[in-house]
Amino acid sequence: MSSLKLNPAVSRLEEEGAFFVLDKALKLKAEGRPVINLGIGQPDFAPPAHVLEAGLRAVRDGPHGYTSPVGMPALREAVAHSVASRYDVPVAADQVVIVPGGKVTIFFACLVFGGPGTEILYPDPGFPPYREAVKAAAAKPVAYAIREDRNFGFDADEVLSQITEATRLIIINSPANPTGGVVDEAELAKLAQGLQAHPQVAILSDEIYSHLVFEGAGFRSLLQYPALADRVILLDGWSKTFAMTGWRLGYGIWPMQLVNAVRGLITVDHSCVNVAAQVAGLAAITGPMDEIDRMRATFAQRRDVVVDGLNNMPGVTCRVPGGAFYAFPNIGGTGIASKQLADRLLMEANVALIPGDSFGNNGKGYLRLSYAAGLDEIEEALARMDSLIKASV
Ligand code: PLP
Repeated sequence: MSSLKLNPAVSRLEEEGAFFVLDKALKLKAEGRPVINLGIGQPDFAPPAHVLEAGLRAVRDGPHGYTSPVGMPALREAVAHSVASRYDVPVAADQVVIVPGGKVTIFFACLVFGGPGTEILYPDPGFPPYREAVKAAAAKPVAYAIREDRNFGFDADEVLSQITEATRLIIINSPANPTGGVVDEAELAKLAQGLQAHPQVAILSDEIYSHLVFEGAGFRSLLQYPALADRVILLDGWSKTFAMTGWRLGYGIWPMQLVNAVRGLITVDHSCVNVAAQVAGLAAITGPMDEIDRMRATFAQRRDVVVDGLNNMPGVTCRVPGGAFYAFPNIGGTGIASKQLADRLLMEANVALIPGDSFGNNGKGYLRLSYAAGLDEIEEALARMDSLIKASV
């Protein structure tokens, strides 16, 4: 037996279910099985051509050196301009911190506000790295409920009631992974109002799916609540909007007073983001958005097919998600547990998706389907699911 003693904050971390299923699905596919992967959350499109061109040019012609730890000045300017004009709020380039993927802002926010004796509130069901990042930062993860009967939103009064003296940060995610839920504006306003009584609590608003809202007047960012402006950290990035998950590029808009702390973390951790990715990201954020509009329309069309198909299966009900590219069907009526159904769908029907409880206790009795796959594949996967469930209930 090894006598090595690991840091418990690290040894207790759990792997994200989506990556576990991705590995398993890829292995089965390599063995020749006709697996359809509705598990991992990444667009099945290529990034726009002008973005790829810019990245290629940077690889060939440079720049090749380090950039500022917080990102190339031109990119920070462009992000600040894009966010400020989109939400009609003041954003300074100095607040923008470029990081290798959206996830990094979650980890850094937890490191900045965590530590022994602190609590961080996160959504359940929610993106699994929230809870794990809180644990890694030696803080106590405190789950707040995301409820199907609130259209996969939260009850602001309930969330506010969970704030204690030890609470340092609350994580909000809309449009949400895994439910596709978009937070109700009235509830968000109520939360913002209630947070004014808790000036020691910072807010991490994960808006990585902000360009993927299907209905209504568009998306309202937490940056648009002036009373919270000095303690909201906005997370967004290129992964989902521009189909660039593998490029590892994201940004945070941090309150000015926190930027130096994050800069310190970056210099310890990764120095700066890969420079070619930053150049490509600049082309993306300053270029035309018509391809992004096309992707959104395609996702909306697939969403309708997925939701219809799921609602026609015995024991399954599915709300219409307002954003992102996930459906989160309730499978309670099948009498089969989430993990068991997900395992059977993969092994017997070659359909990879994620059991709802990988996203927290409140995900029990649900599955997550990512509809980031072509319509033909989606229809075939739904047909396979339908026949397995019909044969089992
Ligand atoms: N936030 C949410 C809610 C996500 O679903 C994801 C990716 O799945 C991320 C952040 C991380 O994105 P990235 O791949 O840019 O790290």
